[in-house]
Amino acid sequence: MEDRPYLSIIVPVYNEEKNIDALLDRLYPVMTATGQSFEIIFTDDGSKDSSLKILREKSRELPEVRIIEFNGNFGQHMAILAAFELCRGEIVITLDADLQNPPEEIPKLIREVEAGHDVVGTVREKRQDSFFRLLASRIVNITTNRMTGMQMSDYGCMLRAYHRNVIDNINRCKESTTFIPALAQTFSANPSEIKVSHAERVEGASKYSLYRLVRLNFDLMTGFSVVPLQLFALFGVVTALLSLGFAIFLLVRRFLVGSEVEGVFTLFAILFFFLGVVIFGIGLVGEYVGRIYQEVRRRPRYVIRNVYGFKE
Ligand code: UDP
Ligand code: MG
Repeated sequence: MEDRPYLSIIVPVYNEEKNIDALLDRLYPVMTATGQSFEIIFTDDGSKDSSLKILREKSRELPEVRIIEFNGNFGQHMAILAAFELCRGEIVITLDADLQNPPEEIPKLIREVEAGHDVVGTVREKRQDSFFRLLASRIVNITTNRMTGMQMSDYGCMLRAYHRNVIDNINRCKESTTFIPALAQTFSANPSEIKVSHAERVEGASKYSLYRLVRLNFDLMTGFSVVPLQLFALFGVVTALLSLGFAIFLLVRRFLVGSEVEGVFTLFAILFFFLGVVIFGIGLVGEYVGRIYQEVRRRPRYVIRNVYGFKE
């Protein structure tokens, strides 16, 4: 394998027709300036606009550009995983297509990997997203670190670099829903984090609706930890103990003061609160059962319709 490139750049693309040109215009000079051999793999995640057409034109012009065409929309993480399986670089870098991650930061990531770090994460400085997204991310970052015992300051930033060893291990995982930064972290012996700048999306809108973000974060919580289940069990134990204490108090009170009749609606309120908690618990267990169900079906995680520009 003489012609293995040293660097693989991976870009998931979903309806980004207005961004591809601008991205390549900035990415290409950065890559040639490294002086290393490289490949740029775009996964077209079932775009409905002309993204694929533009990409194919580009791949005819530029020998380093390769394309994976998906059969439908399987999501950003699947798009990246598919490219992980086909990429051959020693250092692999993922990047968003919308230019929110400046390509100019790539040499910094390469230097970190060359310094011996097998996973290099990034923290977005002065992140340019809506207030709601920032708040949600903060909550997710803190709770995920607590629950998984990992240490990462910014789970959402997909400008990341990985060493070949980590990529090979990720490729051995066949789980059908996943969250790549967390998955990589579990295989990393020596991770590091650097600060990168962050820009506003140039063209088009974010592909993540509130619902998709919630789904993604459920995957993150339940896919990497059973702490939610354990916390829930713990809560059950504490509630039972408190109730027992209260029952004993009421019994004693009955002998000393007499029986009480008021407070029926207080009882309702308390009851409904706990009903809510119980339903939440069933839902939580359901999340795990759902994941197990998905895994045992063993359906393909994504379907590739075609690839372009890959050498045999
Ligand atoms: N993306 C994708 N499939 C999807 C959603 C997004 O390949 O189903 C790509 C998208 O084209 C972009 C990257 O993933 O390159 C990040 O998406 P986006 O910018 O919408 O996410 P945000 O920056 O809002 O988190
Ligand atoms: Mg974006």
